[in-house]
Amino acid sequence: MAAQVQRMSRLMVKTLRDDPADAETLSHKLLVRAGFVRRNAAGIWTWLPLGKKVFENVSRIIREEMDAIGGQEVLLPALLPKEPYEASGRWEEYGDLLFRVKDRKGADYLLGPTHEEIFTQTVKDQCTSYKDLPVILYQIQTKYRDEARPRSGVLRGREFQMKDSYSFDTTDEGLAEAYALHRAAYQKIFERLGLDYRICSAVSGAMGGSASEEFLAPAPAGEDTFADCPACDFAANTEAVTFALKPVEGAGHGPVEDLDTPDTPTIETLAEHLGVPASATLKNLLVKVDGEIVAVGVPGDREVDLGKLAEQLAPAEVELVTAEDFEGRPDLVRGYVGPQGLDKVRYIADPRVAPGTAWITGANKPDTHAKNVVCGRDFEVDDYLDVVVVQDGDPCPACGTGLKLDRAIEIGHIFQLGRKYADAFQLDVLGQNGKPVRVTMGSYGIGVSRAVAALAEQNADDKGLVWSREVAPADVHVVAAGKAAQTELALSVSEQLAEAGVRVLVDDRAGVSPGVKFTDAELFGIPTILVAGRRTAEGVVELKDRRTGEREELPVAEAIARLT
Ligand code: ATP
Ligand code: MG
Ligand code: MG
Ligand code: MG
Repeated sequence: MAAQVQRMSRLMVKTLRDDPADAETLSHKLLVRAGFVRRNAAGIWTWLPLGKKVFENVSRIIREEMDAIGGQEVLLPALLPKEPYEASGRWEEYGDLLFRVKDRKGADYLLGPTHEEIFTQTVKDQCTSYKDLPVILYQIQTKYRDEARPRSGVLRGREFQMKDSYSFDTTDEGLAEAYALHRAAYQKIFERLGLDYRICSAVSGAMGGSASEEFLAPAPAGEDTFADCPACDFAANTEAVTFALKPVEGAGHGPVEDLDTPDTPTIETLAEHLGVPASATLKNLLVKVDGEIVAVGVPGDREVDLGKLAEQLAPAEVELVTAEDFEGRPDLVRGYVGPQGLDKVRYIADPRVAPGTAWITGANKPDTHAKNVVCGRDFEVDDYLDVVVVQDGDPCPACGTGLKLDRAIEIGHIFQLGRKYADAFQLDVLGQNGKPVRVTMGSYGIGVSRAVAALAEQNADDKGLVWSREVAPADVHVVAAGKAAQTELALSVSEQLAEAGVRVLVDDRAGVSPGVKFTDAELFGIPTILVAGRRTAEGVVELKDRRTGEREELPVAEAIARLT
């Protein structure tokens, strides 16, 4: 299919030689300098023609992969009534992050930061029987969050574009399957985009719910710090480090109890007490009481209460289980409590155990350790505390190698929400036996606008942006470097390429020096630059690979053949 030739002489684009004064990150500088985006206000951006093309290419890849897992695209409003967010508790919970607006009658509305509530209502309205499920719905839509520090260009907008999807199932297995489908689709999406990324276990923050993983793209501009193992595939977001726990009232298992542990037993004491060998694998341990896991810890120098716990629980049967016991136990996340106590809880989630439903047990008072607690049953996550960075060189919980700390951009996030929203909205469908079944949900996000910036962060060089073919605003950037003859050749080559379906941007501007055109071409980052220059009379053009810088002179026909 023939593609359009985009002529620079008619393109609305103004490139800048200097970085914008307020820009701190590479993507911010380059996307503005190349004329891909324009800032309207803090965290509020316009996508200009070239930027919009990249944005649409990223969106297309996401759509294709979402459609491939059976996702159905919808478009929900961004302007939303308050009531559903009151029902879920997030009208309050979101605090200052929420843009709240009033209509002319004084009624409260909000600009949607994410859409769990509205999707839940949609499905409650549209699906009535188990036969209507499972369903995966998605949208690519504008979101609003009044971010405290909307710096970094489109990396962190206050208005930004997200692909959000939501899965609805009647069974936990169904949810696990929808989660796995999304996980695999995200891997394909980020691979096709050409993003370098890691999958990390994560806390689910204001989403509520339990299992969640983040897709992190390593880049110095990232605002997340993550611990990366150079030897195995372990990676964890250090954002998942600290949290305060709140006892669940009337849970039936007694309140969380603090144990003072001045004489904390060592792992050896504990092992002896339990009559198990204090082998090295005990470093990752859980305690099982009558088959139920009640504590988890990686004892360090001052760990932990497990000996006392065992004592208190006697004569219940207490057994130690090791790292292998995590295998196939998606409801477990392991972690450990550092010597500093509550506000210095150090926690590394193990990606092998997500998705899950149980949090680690944790200290809830300095130098203590909660006993006999199961998250969800006995306590819930109450508040997130300051992030405590896992130290460079800390041992990897999976293989023991020294961890390396890196900065990364959160480009995607997947959650198993469970029934939190279904409960809030009484989302039931009629089950096979005629009785109502409560629906279980997942929610899955990709920052589409952020992904564009993340690509810029990972691929740019000192000359400018560098796009892969799938996302680039064009396949070939043809430069007419000279006078009328060069322009004529450039236009003719462009037409021939377009005929063959190649997307071409041709720099046919009159009165602009070749030097300026080359500089702009490097800045735009289109994968191949074709120059009609000094050897035009001989019918020879130059091909340049933007990424590698390799150049080659070729007869026109050969160059065209190469590119089609
Ligand atoms: P962050 O930790 O960066 O604030 P988040 O965890 O609050 O992100 P989620 O609620 O998980 O974000 O939203 C899903 C995805 O939306 C994120 O993984 C990210 O890619 C994108 N996203 C979130 N906030 C922004 C923002 N302010 N600007 C651009 N993209 C964003
Ligand atoms: Mg956020
Ligand atoms: Mg986050
Ligand atoms: Mg997130």
